[in-house]
Amino acid sequence: MPQIVTNAIVVRRADYRDNDRMLTLFSPTMGRVDALCRGCRRQKSPLLAASELFCTGEYALYQTGERASVVSCAITETYYPLRADYERLSHGMYALELCAAAVQPGQENERLFMLLLRTLAHLCYGENDARRVTAVFLMGLTSLLGFRPQVGRCVRCGAPILTGEDGEDGAVAALAPEWGGLLCARCMAGEGCNLTSAQVRYLHGIMRRGLDSLDEEGECSPELFEALKRLAEQRLYMPIRSSHLLP
Ligand SMILES: [Zn+2]
Repeated sequence: MPQIVTNAIVVRRADYRDNDRMLTLFSPTMGRVDALCRGCRRQKSPLLAASELFCTGEYALYQTGERASVVSCAITETYYPLRADYERLSHGMYALELCAAAVQPGQENERLFMLLLRTLAHLCYGENDARRVTAVFLMGLTSLLGFRPQVGRCVRCGAPILTGEDGEDGAVAALAPEWGGLLCARCMAGEGCNLTSAQVRYLHGIMRRGLDSLDEEGECSPELFEALKRLAEQRLYMPIRSSHLLP
């Protein structure tokens, strides 16, 4: 019997027929898997919780040809507390949708899977501002898609991006999503999102330490956050609907 067991998280779901759902699972070893979850909307179905967004666990799938269906799931995490906070929930749903768009069937991506789970854990149980958490996710995702943002040198002329002292707070660089990184003060000419020295150091911290950089000082302004969203989303070639729902 072609049964497969894989770790996975539900990144998308759609009701189907009277009691079923189509799930989009993200598996670290199998990439995107579309699987039918039969009868899961019946009140007493053992698959009810396994068919919800964010549900993470060991999914047993029955596969015939191109089609997969969920047999059972040993749930390890549901990120349930996210539901109590609209802002953090919106950020979580945004991260799920980005992964649903980024991951292809049959494409292993252990690092993105771990980044997603750690991001959700920070949103669900951590204290950091949701925008800062998602900012790290966006830069990590962009890197894992093969477009590591260039933040040490100007993407146009190659000059090092200098960060002066705090306090002298003019713009020292700009994040230009269309260029895939930072423009130096000489090249920016009104393009991209202006950055102070502190903001450049903040981005360097993210590139160096990923989610661990959340314990450093730093603030992600709404303008910088919008630029980081564009940086990642332009690599996905499809609109990310939940992007507009972020408060
Ligand atoms: Zn330059």
